[in-house]
Amino acid sequence: MFDKILIANRGEIALRVIRACREMGIKSVAVHSTADSDAMHVRMADESVCIGPPSGTQSYLSIPAIISACEITGAQAIHPGYGFLSENANFVQIVEDHGLKFIGPSAKHISQMGDKITAKDTAKILGIPCVPGSDGGVATVAEAKKVAAEMGYPVIIKATAGGGGRGMKVAETADDLEMAFSTARSESKAAFGNDEVYMEKYLQKPRHIEIQVFGDGQGNGVHLGERDCSLQRRHQKVFEEAPGPSISPQERAEIGQICANAIGEMGYSGAGTIEFLYEDGQFYFIEMNTRLQVEHPVTEAIFGVDLVREQIRVASGQTLSFTQDDLEINGHAIEVRINAERLPNFAPCPGKVTAYHAPGGLGVRMDSALYNGYSIPPYYDSLIGKLIVHGRDRSEALARLQRALGELIVDGVDTTVPLFHALLEEKDIHTGEYNIHWLERWLETNLQA
Ligand code: ADP
Repeated sequence: MFDKILIANRGEIALRVIRACREMGIKSVAVHSTADSDAMHVRMADESVCIGPPSGTQSYLSIPAIISACEITGAQAIHPGYGFLSENANFVQIVEDHGLKFIGPSAKHISQMGDKITAKDTAKILGIPCVPGSDGGVATVAEAKKVAAEMGYPVIIKATAGGGGRGMKVAETADDLEMAFSTARSESKAAFGNDEVYMEKYLQKPRHIEIQVFGDGQGNGVHLGERDCSLQRRHQKVFEEAPGPSISPQERAEIGQICANAIGEMGYSGAGTIEFLYEDGQFYFIEMNTRLQVEHPVTEAIFGVDLVREQIRVASGQTLSFTQDDLEINGHAIEVRINAERLPNFAPCPGKVTAYHAPGGLGVRMDSALYNGYSIPPYYDSLIGKLIVHGRDRSEALARLQRALGELIVDGVDTTVPLFHALLEEKDIHTGEYNIHWLERWLETNLQA
């Protein structure tokens, strides 16, 4: 097992990893930009190293600075958290070339899944059901028209290098296609430096269902059921739950087994998430994330396992601490993402937090790096906390969410908390009857700018 781990991240996820390290008796090293000198992850780690100026590219994304920080502190392994360098195959290669361990899958698996066309091809070979779509990239409008005519409208044009919901455009009819195609290409060129796009049938009312998987790198895979992350704004998740309200135990066992087998066959190592759209009882693969997800705590809550601990175990060459047969779902969990954003436009709202009080009590977990007097810097993601609740069933979890949101105090900046109070008034949230378009429609009618 490692003696010391460096965490190449900030905010709540850096704290999350530091906590796992501390319980495992491993020393932790925080890295930070000059804007984060007073950040909670710096205070909580055993050691810290300043790695650059505020801009993410010059600090949390600076590979030489992070490698040097490992060398200076003697850290043997790097946990990347999510975002930043967590799915950068080049980084993984450099880490390994320096004799360090990356806590995550191999560079090969990251690049295989990072390119969405290769990911879909791999999924098909492994027997994972996919959304009908183009065979690889689509280079011209003429080709796009041909593919769309065969598939039928509406279609979605997506960036091969995509992520974070960017570079995606829907064409309802043939008239929209040319515009959607060129916008998707230019957006993906701007966001990812790569204008290759591909096409899929646009599903009208799917749910976003993702399967948590783990591989031991030795040919064994397990799954930890699904999360329903259908409540999204601009393709970004805001509310996640497990188990999915629409998924039966039989469906879970079937799709879970397909995913676990695929992970085993790939020889995949560590945590991963296989994302699907789910409509009329069918699962359609959209992508795989080769890292820990923001919403991993809902899975931890219902299975009672520490996923970061398992990531560290697997990276150090140990086995998972559980087998598929050991895993049993206990109750229901919900996570809401609390962002420093001003409604109704969700404009980022950094600034000084004049008062902070985290909710507590049975079944409540608050993952946040906030503290009284903390100044949220304007340079990074606006996520400032995740509130996770766990109950014996879905209705208990919803009641607990309402109670916990009522206890939470974040003064000085605007947050997305009022959105969740309002959502909890909605019948569809209580019955679980929502799909990936529900929240956008609700926002249009209820939160007019
Ligand atoms: P990203 O990597 O940018 O997050 P994904 O492929 O995971 O992109 O898709 C993100 C979201 O976009 C999905 O959760 C879903 O809401 C929507 N989406 C993607 N593909 C389709 C599709 N074929 N039909 C309908 N919605 C889609």
